[in-house]
Amino acid sequence: MRVASVSLKAAFIAVLHLNYVAAAGDSSLYTALLDVADSLGETQPQSDISPVVELAKKNKDKLDQVSAHGETDAVTACDVFATLFPGKYADQSSGDYTAEVERPISGTCWLKSTCFFEAHTTSDVAFGLKIVTTLGTKFATRSGGHQQNVGFSSIEDGVVLDLSRLTSSSLSEDHKTVRLGTGNRWGEVYNRLEEYGLGAVGGRSGDVGVGGLILGVGIPFFSSKYGFACDNVQQFEVVLANSTVVNATANSHPDLFKALKGGGPNYGIVTHFTLYTIPTDIWYHVAQYNESDYKQVLSAIVATQAKMEDDSNAGVLFSGSNGTMMVGMLYAEPTENPPVFSAFDSLKPIRTLAPPTIGTIAKLVDFFTANSPTARYLSFATSYETDLDLYKSAYGSFISRQHFTSPTKGALQYGIQTITKAAVQAGQKRGGNWLGMKPVSTNWWHVVAAWFDEKDDKAALEASTGMMKNMTNLATDAGKYLDFQFQNDADVSQSPLKSYGEENFKKFAAVAASYDPQQVFQKLQNSGFKISKA
Ligand SMILES: Cc1cc2nc3c(=O)[nH]c(=O)nc-3n(C[C@H](O)[C@H](O)[C@H](O)COP(=O)(O)OP(=O)(O)OC[C@H]3O[C@@H](n4cnc5c(N)ncnc54)[C@H](O)[C@@H]3O)c2cc1C
Repeated sequence: MRVASVSLKAAFIAVLHLNYVAAAGDSSLYTALLDVADSLGETQPQSDISPVVELAKKNKDKLDQVSAHGETDAVTACDVFATLFPGKYADQSSGDYTAEVERPISGTCWLKSTCFFEAHTTSDVAFGLKIVTTLGTKFATRSGGHQQNVGFSSIEDGVVLDLSRLTSSSLSEDHKTVRLGTGNRWGEVYNRLEEYGLGAVGGRSGDVGVGGLILGVGIPFFSSKYGFACDNVQQFEVVLANSTVVNATANSHPDLFKALKGGGPNYGIVTHFTLYTIPTDIWYHVAQYNESDYKQVLSAIVATQAKMEDDSNAGVLFSGSNGTMMVGMLYAEPTENPPVFSAFDSLKPIRTLAPPTIGTIAKLVDFFTANSPTARYLSFATSYETDLDLYKSAYGSFISRQHFTSPTKGALQYGIQTITKAAVQAGQKRGGNWLGMKPVSTNWWHVVAAWFDEKDDKAALEASTGMMKNMTNLATDAGKYLDFQFQNDADVSQSPLKSYGEENFKKFAAVAASYDPQQVFQKLQNSGFKISKA
């Protein structure tokens, strides 16, 4: 009985898949690629298009054949990539295959993909997407590879569309905006902008990719002043499911523009982001405290959060693990020892990690990058209103839960990310988003499990889910629980898109349906925070 129902289900899925391929691939792959070339010709450099067209012409018979046979397997698609994109492709026989497999920061995501397509340009992405959609091949899209959920930017039996070589960056003449390829890492972005006295509203660790961070909302150092990373995009250049390229701004494709602010990988592949620039000169101080002082440290955090409501230059972050707690006191102006952090004056750190410094965003990011090693990672996110008793009881329970293996092999990390009313309002001032955030003093809390040995996978999962459940219960009992889940920290089992509220979710879903009627990003994309799975 069980076997019969399983095979019936498999047959049903196979029929659905064939229907999908038939609908997606009415024309031959050869014709489809030439159509893409025509439409790219209107906006993209010919030098990015012609080499692919020439190779397609030389291999017309082969391209006609694969689409006529309805081949959907990844090996066939990879053969097409190898034919049309020599030098931009890696499979098991390539020297750089292992480097591609091991690019993600989390070892759990080192999946042996059938091949990696190493796109260099917007045109490459448009052609690449046309190959997988015409053939109906499963794919994953990857920028910086820092997403810890297995299968989001990695895939076992399928093609990784790797965007890490889209690393262009150009500052506008008036220096007000910078256009970035999605494959840039934040550290490189800040270093380049620093030469002009500028920064941007992006990641706090230098290795994180531009693309994934912004599409998942993006929490920066100074959200109170500037809002979130997604709020600071002026334009998204997007390759849509049908391989056409559009620029989404507040005035052009405004619905797509809004949906891309925190809507995840549901609308297209974003190739370039144009961001507003900000000044780079700041002040910071990072100190480490003993875990036994957690009540005093948390009191200082909450006191600072109260003051931050009146001083939008201030930011504070907290991370605790393995017997110590790190506190970053950050100020968006080059001001010596800003009084907003005075609650920490009476506390005694065990170590100064970064002394009080008038520095730059680039230098601060260097500091945090050095603290982000390759390991195996899991992360869970929730949010709740600021409340000292809740902070203390939650951290108290974390202390007894943090070790799931020996401390040198891994541990849980406890993160407090302070969000002010001003942060939510800053986003609204920049055109607004559909994230449904309540304008109150909040902690976007997260627990991360970081460990090295595969043998500890189960223990890491149990410890992090246990802590997550405990946090949710404590926040609910205290009447402080909020629905919002920060996408970039959320686990695959969570539903950040739904956490934006039912009405907002409907808006995100409607935009996805309108820009991707064939549901390419729901059906062929391997995994991710998809509308269809929310
Ligand atoms: C050490 C570390 C530090 C971090 N610091 C921060 C921080 O300061 N602030 C913050 O907000 N988050 C932070 N994060 C979380 C991080 O932002 C997310 O993991 C984010 O998804 C990583 O982006 P990426 O491009 O590196 O990831 P990827 O793994 O390449 O991509 C993440 C997701 O986005 C999709 N995607 C990527 N690029 C595109 C694109 N161009 N078009 C369409 N879909 C795309 C992928 O398919 C995948 O689903 C951190 C994570 C780590 C491990």
